[in-house]
Amino acid sequence: MEWLERQDFLMNTTVEQKIGGEDAAAAAQNAVNEISHLESLMSFFIDSGEVAQINRSAGRKAVCVGKDVMTVLGAAIQFAEISGGAFDITLAPVIDLWRRCGKQSVLPSSKEINTALSFCGYHNLQLDNENNTAFLRGDGCLIDLGAIGKGYAADCCIEIYKAMGIQSAFINLGGNVKTLGNNPDGRPWAIGIQHPDQRRGTFFGALDIQDQSVVTSGAYERYFETGGKKHHHIVDHKTGRPCDSDIKSVTVICQSSMQADCLSTAAFVLGLTDGMDLIGKTDNTEAVFYTENNEIYITRNLPGQFHLQKISRLDCYVCR
Ligand code: ADP
Ligand code: MG
Repeated sequence: MEWLERQDFLMNTTVEQKIGGEDAAAAAQNAVNEISHLESLMSFFIDSGEVAQINRSAGRKAVCVGKDVMTVLGAAIQFAEISGGAFDITLAPVIDLWRRCGKQSVLPSSKEINTALSFCGYHNLQLDNENNTAFLRGDGCLIDLGAIGKGYAADCCIEIYKAMGIQSAFINLGGNVKTLGNNPDGRPWAIGIQHPDQRRGTFFGALDIQDQSVVTSGAYERYFETGGKKHHHIVDHKTGRPCDSDIKSVTVICQSSMQADCLSTAAFVLGLTDGMDLIGKTDNTEAVFYTENNEIYITRNLPGQFHLQKISRLDCYVCR
């Protein structure tokens, strides 16, 4: 079988595709078009997009949105509910504050943080599924789909491949991986999990994956520094600050990449104990936690699928 590999920069991250079959080049191009389209709808920064329109209309009016944004917003509310707000797209005022401060390498004041927090809370986002509209209740409220959009896009790309008759494919949107069928050797795809403390491409473990998604959230990729202290990009809904997690990264494995994206962010905020509880109560969903103490905890159905790299010399515990 012919294999095609392609890399692009979309949704502010590297998008990597490996596709098998005659139509691979066309499938890869269709996926790129789809991701660009979704980015134009869902980006916080693209003024003509639906998310920017919802944000501009906050406190004033409901905005008509298409099926893609409606689906993502509905799922976002559902995952905010089940994670007790640890995953919450309405944290955008706080996220935006830290992003703006990060550009100037300064810290926001407590007052700025508290003001931003007062506009947050997923109850402020009201969806009308009959009229397909979204409304933010207060002026100052905002949404940011940074922790869910790439997952949704990965799911859409796999659907595009399937509709084109592709049987084997891999897509990675900046740590959001989803696969279809087998790899070029005819075996399940082996997906490496990035070591949080080592250079990119160094894996502490690998997962055998078939028709599933693997999504990692961690503090090690996106951050800024002030006075030698690192401030990463995942916000704690309780403090309005980058979360002080007891894990360095968490990887979630399940069928839906959108679900894996939401849950990996939520579990990172919640930390090992509560994050493990959240994964445990979610059907057909597994996870690998890499702790601050450099221990690895995996969910109980994972041992056959997860392989610790020999070089890593880490302890791995299976949670019951
Ligand atoms: P990445 O996008 O780096 O792969 P995540 O999926 O964890 O990692 O998403 C992080 C992004 O999501 C942040 O850059 C920000 O835009 C947004 N975000 C930050 N904290 C939260 C949170 N607690 N809930 C929902 N979205 C968040
Ligand atoms: Mg996420």
